[in-house]
Amino acid sequence: MESVKRNSIRGFPLQFFDFISPRFCSSCEKKLEIDQKVLCDDCLSNLAHVNNELLNSEYIKKFASEKLIEEIFVPFNFIKEGTIQNLIHDLKYNSKFQSGIFLGELIFLNGIEVISKWKIDLIIPVPLHRLKKAERGYNQAEFIAKGIRRKSGIDLRTNSVKRTRFTQSQTKLDLVDRRKNMEGAFIVKNKKSIKQKNILLVDDVMTTGATISECARVLKKFGANKIYAVSVGLA
Ligand SMILES: [Zn+2]
Repeated sequence: MESVKRNSIRGFPLQFFDFISPRFCSSCEKKLEIDQKVLCDDCLSNLAHVNNELLNSEYIKKFASEKLIEEIFVPFNFIKEGTIQNLIHDLKYNSKFQSGIFLGELIFLNGIEVISKWKIDLIIPVPLHRLKKAERGYNQAEFIAKGIRRKSGIDLRTNSVKRTRFTQSQTKLDLVDRRKNMEGAFIVKNKKSIKQKNILLVDDVMTTGATISECARVLKKFGANKIYAVSVGLA
């Protein structure tokens, strides 16, 4: 796996920063080496990957009937109490933005072959409603999207789509009701920015896909070309 190596920050060798402020693995709390970020190599290699078969069957289950989403890529299984769940929790509830950026980088590095074929013009994190964003202080998906931008160099926009409806929790709804629950949840704010663009939608966890589908429906309605979706974990 590619990793960006820096030897110094403003002329100080990295060892210096590691010495004054050691960093620890977010999962096992072992001290990180200079070239490691967020997770140590052991925890990184123990992550549960989604295989192609599962990815295909999930695509069919969640997106094939509507065809709003061309293809999806999700690198990891979202296992209860697992490393990925803990990192997403850190990002969502403990303001650990570095975890989000790291997860975004992992999405791109694990999916580089697939994602490169999609010819993406624009990365758009699935927006949160402003009340939800105000409550949390930020949209966690934006940090994951930033990690993808950092590795891919693709443009990122957070002001093209807005979430207009505060949707109720979807956990107790079935698939049909979830779709209904999402109807009219998004509006396109900046039509020019999405016109004819191939767009990569980014979210933290992919559950039913109802949110992603509804966001894609609105983007396509206002002129986007092809919509693809990625998330960190598959629930
Ligand atoms: Zn570790």
